[in-house]
Amino acid sequence: MSRLPNSNDAPKLTDNPYGGDELMDDIALLLNDMAKRCTTCKRVVRKKYLKERNEFNYCPDCISK
Ligand SMILES: [Zn+2]
Repeated sequence: MSRLPNSNDAPKLTDNPYGGDELMDDIALLLNDMAKRCTTCKRVVRKKYLKERNEFNYCPDCISK
């Protein structure tokens, strides 16, 4: 019986350090109003990381560009 390589591995999330994790994914964060999407890169960004400029929300990566 062959074991699927990813069956027991945690799903690899995107390279987004500001968004969801294994406890609460991006969608859960959005539904719970705990995060918003970055205007530029569209990643989900937790509110504690969220930067606001001109009424748009950005992740720390995009606000510095
Ligand atoms: Zn961004």
